[in-house]
Amino acid sequence: MPMFDFSCQGCEHSFELLVRKGDTICCPACGSETVEKLLSLPALKTSSTRGLAMQAAKRRDKAQATDRVFEQAKYEASHDD
Ligand SMILES: [Zn+2]
Repeated sequence: MPMFDFSCQGCEHSFELLVRKGDTICCPACGSETVEKLLSLPALKTSSTRGLAMQAAKRRDKAQATDRVFEQAKYEASHDD
């Protein structure tokens, strides 16, 4: 069963809940049904995590660009006779 984080819009209480299909989600603190499901993706949690992810993506792009240049050079070298 999936477990989700929720935040109550009425009293701002945060809670985790196992959610079955068809369940109505109520705040355990005030009983309000106006609750917001929180995204718990690691990349969204902190700005520092997001910064690290950006750095990793940039490194990956750079590595791929280097690969492309290398492949192009190899292609030209092998067709240069
Ligand atoms: Zn509440």
